[in-house]
Amino acid sequence: MFNDVYFSREGGVAETEYVFLRHNQLPQRWQHCQQFVIAETGFGSGLNFITTVHHWLDTQQNDSQLFYISIEKYPLSKPDLQQALSAWPQFAEYCDELLRYYPAAIPGFHRISLFNHRVNLLLLLGDVETMLQQLHAKVDAWYLDGFAPAKNPDMWTDRVFAEMARLSKSDATFSSFTAAGHVRRGLVAQGFKVAKAKGFANKREMIHGHMQQQTQSQSRSPWYDISAASFIAKRAAVIGGGIAGMATAQSLAKRGWQVDVLERNADIASEGSGNPAGVLLPRISIDNSAEGEFYATAYQLAVNELTSIKRQDAGFDWYPSGVVQLAISERIMHQIEQGTFDQNFVQTLNAEQVSNMCGIKLEHAGLYYPQAGWLKPDQLCKILASQSADQIHVRCNITVKHLDYVARQWRAYDAKQNVLGDYNCVVLANAAAAKQFNQTSWLPLKAVRGQISYIASNDRLKQIHCPICYEGYILPEMHQYHIVGATFKPDDTSVVIRSTEHRQNLDSLLQAIPEIADSIPEQNVISGRAALRATTEDRMPLVGPVADRQFFDHHYADLAKGRAAACYAEAKYLPGLYVNTGHGARGLTSSILSAELLAAQINNEPLPVSMRVLQALLPSRFLVRAYKKGHAIS
Ligand code: SAM
Repeated sequence: MFNDVYFSREGGVAETEYVFLRHNQLPQRWQHCQQFVIAETGFGSGLNFITTVHHWLDTQQNDSQLFYISIEKYPLSKPDLQQALSAWPQFAEYCDELLRYYPAAIPGFHRISLFNHRVNLLLLLGDVETMLQQLHAKVDAWYLDGFAPAKNPDMWTDRVFAEMARLSKSDATFSSFTAAGHVRRGLVAQGFKVAKAKGFANKREMIHGHMQQQTQSQSRSPWYDISAASFIAKRAAVIGGGIAGMATAQSLAKRGWQVDVLERNADIASEGSGNPAGVLLPRISIDNSAEGEFYATAYQLAVNELTSIKRQDAGFDWYPSGVVQLAISERIMHQIEQGTFDQNFVQTLNAEQVSNMCGIKLEHAGLYYPQAGWLKPDQLCKILASQSADQIHVRCNITVKHLDYVARQWRAYDAKQNVLGDYNCVVLANAAAAKQFNQTSWLPLKAVRGQISYIASNDRLKQIHCPICYEGYILPEMHQYHIVGATFKPDDTSVVIRSTEHRQNLDSLLQAIPEIADSIPEQNVISGRAALRATTEDRMPLVGPVADRQFFDHHYADLAKGRAAACYAEAKYLPGLYVNTGHGARGLTSSILSAELLAAQINNEPLPVSMRVLQALLPSRFLVRAYKKGHAIS
């Protein structure tokens, strides 16, 4: 496309080692470091990545982590990547691991954890300038590798260099194969010291350098800024042992934290995450919304994580059967008409293809998510706990009533004022009950009742071999029955099972799939389960630090006046207090990314989501929106 090469076959690995590793003083700078962040412009065939991974795994301890951020506007398809990487048989093991988790070509952020979490690849699929603007990270070393500036000027703009400066640590370095004059001048203008060196092999010159004088960049929305976290020890409490809580506990444990999971029930996964099975699928959108981006990123990460768990534990009931969504609602029909999606992510099917995919005759067209599937949420919660059993301590029958911040620690109390523990960090993952604390009473969370029905299987229904979603859903047979879900009852916090809601579940099933009407009489309903899920007004979860309400009220109450961002102070949060809740009916898809996002914030890592998704998840968005409208908040 650019009339330039991805890498030279003659130079290849040696050129990468010379230009990018050696001129960023790698691996020397990795000595004694726990975490190192590289950012690259142009992922291409992944050769720089694979070569860097090779040196990282060769020289580093198991407990240190490489974060490799790479931006790519025109990602290679998996077969093309495989073909390109086959040129390096010495790296076959690394290439296989990359290919196993390489994402579908969906624009946006993709976090891929490799080699037992020793390497984290953050692939940003999109234009370099836009992606850098959306990135929240502090970079140690830059690889500037985006085709020759004369052939591809978009990769080498002053705005790209300005974003590099914003994202650099104070001692960040860079290197590039090019020594073009305007690249040198652009980097110097942003505070980098630039030196020339002899180019690789017979190439004349290249450049390298380091950050010399960092200029302070002005935040575009200081009310959404989150500054670096700092903890004197790694002891955390996660309140709530559902999927959001257990995923959070595991994400923290992976980063060396000791975590108490405080659960009010006799066992974990007893409430919203206690259904015998649930569906994992994305929520796609064609309007390029933050919501669609969040669910696409979350879905890919969840699929990868479940695949990885299944590889370690064959007994894990994750069924990646694919999932069909029938084109019944206006929303889905519109998506089918408009959508041009990557086939690995979602495919459009006509009624005949839908019927073949589902195993029963259906009259609707639909969307098909080939990587999606279904699983047992309670089993997943238990596996997450057991994978880090030395670090995750589940304490059941414990209800936390108060939290106090004393001497840089959160002290948790029960209803009788008994101290339950002291923690550097507390994450509230207890659904709608997350707002029962003084510090969080303003969180706009609502409990919504949902009931599922279990219907007896029969010869006809047994044919269903993947989850079918409509307004509700039906799952393939499990222990002689099918789960049919689910009702959605706002303002109802009862969890008794109601025959009226079984009827509703059946009605909605039969409306979507009238073909099976004769095979499921009402008496087929064996039983069911009702539980509460926490939802928010904008249907996005609440994930992030808890705002310091006094500070927010004091500094941002006049946001409606529309003064310049520079007039406002950077946001302040209650140190070490976070929430991960409000996942509604999509917790299986959204919890794992949300947990990783929190753990990344708590451990000052590059964030696995774009700034706009970060802001769409921040609990304080509701405060900011109210200030901007001039509304009072209770
Ligand atoms: N680092 C790669 C490797 O190790 O294989 C080689 C990168 S190749 C020389 C340059 C890459 O930049 C190409 O994959 C190209 O698609 C990508 N690219 C070009 N223009 C871009 C832009 N504006 N934004 C993001 N990526 C771009």
